[in-house]
Amino acid sequence: MDDSRLYSTRQPKIYAILCAMADTYIVADIGGTQIRAALFPSYQTTPVKIVRTSTQGDGQEPLERLLNLIATIWPVSDRVVAIAVAAPGPSDPYEGIVFEAPNIPGWTNVPLKKHLQERFQTLATIGNDANLAAMGEWRYGAGKGHNHLLYVTVSTGIGGGVISDGKLLLGVRGLAGELGHITVDPNGPMCGCGKRGHLEAIASGPAISRWVADEISRGVPSILSSRVNFSAKDVAWAANENDLLAKTALKRAGTYLGIAFADFLHIFNPSAIIIGGGVSRSGSHLLVPLRNALREHVISEAYLEDLVITTAALGDEVGLMGALALAQTLA
Ligand SMILES: [Zn+2]
Repeated sequence: MDDSRLYSTRQPKIYAILCAMADTYIVADIGGTQIRAALFPSYQTTPVKIVRTSTQGDGQEPLERLLNLIATIWPVSDRVVAIAVAAPGPSDPYEGIVFEAPNIPGWTNVPLKKHLQERFQTLATIGNDANLAAMGEWRYGAGKGHNHLLYVTVSTGIGGGVISDGKLLLGVRGLAGELGHITVDPNGPMCGCGKRGHLEAIASGPAISRWVADEISRGVPSILSSRVNFSAKDVAWAANENDLLAKTALKRAGTYLGIAFADFLHIFNPSAIIIGGGVSRSGSHLLVPLRNALREHVISEAYLEDLVITTAALGDEVGLMGALALAQTLA
């Protein structure tokens, strides 16, 4: 038998195997308490598998836990086009290195992309979770159709991401978009990052509840004064009960957010600002002062024309959906 005949008889079999393989993406979201991973067929935005595990435990390193979790959803016969992982904290998306992950002790300069590629022998990419949340809301959530968009999450911290001209703004080392760490009061309270007067130190959830607690300790009356501990969610509840101190606290936070947002409008001129995180659900007690401050501090009404300010649509899924949007850029 000559070589050409051998080829002609084998080729259809190989072709049949290739046809049966569908393209998929695997994405993961690393949180302080939980790691989640999901398998998406290409061109689908609903995962066929989604799994989770705690970030730490069983004497296993978080990295090993992530890699093992991904292995559990690895498709038997389909092809994984790319893996994308949303990681907390500052990271280098070009080299795929997580510089530091808050709430995960020991995670310093982790070459995550290299580990993923070595273990799974496929394309891999990583991104900062707030940046990827911006991508998720842009592609699949409240920001669809807006190619100039800001995403700000107001939660335990304040993070953000900037979509500019249809691309995620990364900066030279991938560190752009830290919208919570801009100074709004140089003499203000200390921020979690160790610098003073950042937006996060004044308008994040813990900052709001801390301010209320300080005012109560100064003798200001509130229905929260009988509580030993309370959160920003409790402050929002108290505001809805018409508690003056709680309403003042949310007005203060909303005003500072509005001041910062005016700065963001001047720099990025977006058509949409998407607000995520638990504090964004505080309602009009926060959002009305925010809009008022924005209007007061913006240098031209033109920035506000057709500007959409809305709350995030994707909820807890935002990290995974952002990672999916990132994975698709590799295809
Ligand atoms: Zn800070």
